[in-house]
Amino acid sequence: MIDQTHCPLCKNELTIVFTTKDFLVSGESFDIVECSDCGLRLTSPFPNKDNIGSYYESEEYISHAEETKGLFDFIYNMVRAYMLGRKGKIIERSSRKRSGTILDIGCGAGHFLDKMKIDGWRVKGVDVSSKAREIVKQQFDIEVISPDDWLNSDEKYDVVTCWHSLEHVHDPLEYLQKFKQQLNENGILVVALPNYDSPDAHKYGADWAAYDTPRHLYHFTPPSISKIMTQNGFSVQGCHRINFDPFYVSILSAKHKGSSHFSGIVNGLASWFISVFQKEKCSSLIYIMKVNE
Ligand SMILES: [Zn+2]
Repeated sequence: MIDQTHCPLCKNELTIVFTTKDFLVSGESFDIVECSDCGLRLTSPFPNKDNIGSYYESEEYISHAEETKGLFDFIYNMVRAYMLGRKGKIIERSSRKRSGTILDIGCGAGHFLDKMKIDGWRVKGVDVSSKAREIVKQQFDIEVISPDDWLNSDEKYDVVTCWHSLEHVHDPLEYLQKFKQQLNENGILVVALPNYDSPDAHKYGADWAAYDTPRHLYHFTPPSISKIMTQNGFSVQGCHRINFDPFYVSILSAKHKGSSHFSGIVNGLASWFISVFQKEKCSSLIYIMKVNE
């Protein structure tokens, strides 16, 4: 059981920042609590592992995986294709490898693993959803295992990726220890996370879509990522912006707030513009980590 009264990194007492809600599925209220030292934020309370599944039972979580419907989904699929290419390039450059072994945590519908497999990598996925595991096996012939099976395995990899998945995990410290054991020498850990120190997060506060409570359990900024990684034997080698997220997150946040799509686009544009000059202010960041020697 995770202690939600104290920071898992600094042991400071956590204080309530504001109350937000689950906009997507249940409409229930959740607090965002914060460590005044490192800035790590947690969702409070966490649903436990047995009942968190019910908070993922939304049409929107499933429909994005498959067919194209309407303009929004058309754009979504275009952005996904662009992002897959960009992720591949970041991995090649950061790992200094054109092929190797890769493990994707929270692989969902498996499009990233499929892309990497086509590019010549040996790939494996981990996903909590048995339905996702079956679909990826059937559609792409890629092996996907459950988190428990993965935590009990001892295979090694050149690259481990967590594309917007580490914020969903009950105990990320347990995962970091496992990554450390499983990374080959010179291996890299790639983690993409929302950043609540972005202009769009400040603008929308409790309506900011990337809090996504209670599916997101932890909320990070570059300093808290640096702290959690350093404490667990990793060093941050660099970070990259995810250009589309200021727009996507602002449009969704505007909807939560009851404002127009147009105001979301304008706020997204303003947020993106700032992140061009200050990348650590981007709404979502991709961090590259190595294990300390
Ligand atoms: Zn802390």
